[in-house]
Amino acid sequence: MTQPDYDLVILGGGLAGGLLARQMRLTRPDLRVLCLERATDTTYKVGEATVELFSNYLVRKLGLTTYLYENHLPKNGLRFFFDNEQKNTPIEQMSEIGSYGLPFHPSFQLDRSTLERELRDGSARLGADILEGCKVQDVEFGDPHHTVTFQEHSASRSVTTKWVVDATGRNSLLAKKLNLRVPETQHCCLGAWARLGNVVDLDGHDIDPAWRARTRNTSRRLSTIHFMHRGYWIWLIPLRGGVTSVGIVGDKRHVGREALTQDGLRDFLNSHRACRDLIGDAEWLDFGAYGQLAYGTKQWFGDRWAVIGEAAAFSDPFYSPGSDFITISNDYVTDLIGRQHDGEDTAARQKLYNSYLQFRYQANLPLYREQYDLFGSYELMSIKWNFDIAAYYALWVNSYLMDKHLDIEDLGHELRQSSFVVQALERFRMMFLNCERKVTADGGYFRQNLGRMSEGLGDVSFAHDIGQLNKKQAEGHSLDAFAKARARCFDLLGQTAGNADKLGFVDYVNGRALTASD
Ligand SMILES: Cc1cc2nc3c(=O)[nH]c(=O)nc-3n(C[C@H](O)[C@H](O)[C@H](O)COP(=O)(O)OP(=O)(O)OC[C@H]3O[C@@H](n4cnc5c(N)ncnc54)[C@H](O)[C@@H]3O)c2cc1C
Repeated sequence: MTQPDYDLVILGGGLAGGLLARQMRLTRPDLRVLCLERATDTTYKVGEATVELFSNYLVRKLGLTTYLYENHLPKNGLRFFFDNEQKNTPIEQMSEIGSYGLPFHPSFQLDRSTLERELRDGSARLGADILEGCKVQDVEFGDPHHTVTFQEHSASRSVTTKWVVDATGRNSLLAKKLNLRVPETQHCCLGAWARLGNVVDLDGHDIDPAWRARTRNTSRRLSTIHFMHRGYWIWLIPLRGGVTSVGIVGDKRHVGREALTQDGLRDFLNSHRACRDLIGDAEWLDFGAYGQLAYGTKQWFGDRWAVIGEAAAFSDPFYSPGSDFITISNDYVTDLIGRQHDGEDTAARQKLYNSYLQFRYQANLPLYREQYDLFGSYELMSIKWNFDIAAYYALWVNSYLMDKHLDIEDLGHELRQSSFVVQALERFRMMFLNCERKVTADGGYFRQNLGRMSEGLGDVSFAHDIGQLNKKQAEGHSLDAFAKARARCFDLLGQTAGNADKLGFVDYVNGRALTASD
């Protein structure tokens, strides 16, 4: 049998493709990898704030700890600020959810341009072929080899490969060719962003010392700042070198398309007093926008092909899950290619991996669908946030840190439970929405938006144990989070919560636990 030119050709050298090239070379240096990237250089991109699962991948599997601390910024968690209805509250008077110190599990604020440059150069040093300025034109699927055709310096070239992975982002070469895209019709958000210089330093000497002391002088600038409003949120993410990424994501029922131009975004941001105070004198360095953010995919893997990153699916950037999906799919691609190369029949494993990624996408959507209506209320968001972050740690981060997503037996168990997990999350989604309707009808939406402060990870007292919890312990922490959210929602709805001690997971799935007994 003739040997293909490569074992793996990666289409696109952005975040997903660059990380995969590195992971393949580190894990299987015996396999030949080619990465084809259309651009000749790297630029600013959104996708700068990382969360715990993805950061664990960078640190534990890709050996990037020192590189990240030396070239990017440590992230001080998420920090939420709440405004009044007129949007004219000074930041110091806003209610705030955020940390008093750097979180136990590290995460980073990434300059994507710098990172992608390092990933491409680093993978080349590790022995991958990285070709920049090469636009992929087509993939012809074949057995035993696929053929990838690309344009290099205006000449057309072809290479053969065993595996091909699409990491072309929203260009989504394979999704188009194979008709994989699933439009998201229930969660319709748009986004616009820019990189700014000369944004006010929230930790600076001219900031009110009493307000800085409220968070025990931990760095607010290093957090991802969220200005929260009904139907949308504004982010500020610090990048190394004094640049700040600023943007909005809005439910299209609340934010119009006029925000999708640079002038529109500027006007939109400046119509919020606290935001204007920070960025009013800033220098605008670039601008970008998308009219629709979310979409799904029918499939993640096929016969020696895969789609990863935004070439596959995207839900919502609010909790930065994009890079978590890249992590899991890259682990899967690396694992499948290695096993196949060693002669293993991976058909059953691949099917599980596909189903697990679909499950994770389905479990992600209830966090966002219609939930933007809650975003402008400290009272409602503090319930939702405590629930979401505890569930994230107990359900997802814990198992990733132990590589349970690669364990066939564990995956089988997870997948048998998957529809129940989605169902339970859906029920909470509806309960949160009911609370929003009630609080709004009572005229109380903004009533706690001034002067309050709560610790962002206050309900995650088990954070130190993450990565070591067995299934029963993890489920116990999830149930605790469920019970706390239930009690606070019942209180808001004026219903008697009663004792939650005897409630099990099944009671949340079938809805009994969330139905008032009086
Ligand atoms: C508004 C918004 C905010 C976000 N915020 C966050 C966040 O804070 N944290 C987070 O983790 N994620 C965030 N994300 C998600 C994050 O941006 C994505 O997960 C990530 O950028 C996807 O990386 P990728 O490699 O799939 O795509 P990209 O980074 O777009 O890379 C695709 C690459 O493919 C190349 N390419 C395209 N077509 C071809 C071709 N024909 N031939 C060769 N090369 C090609 C492109 O040049 C590019 O380099 C956000 C997303 C949005 C929309």
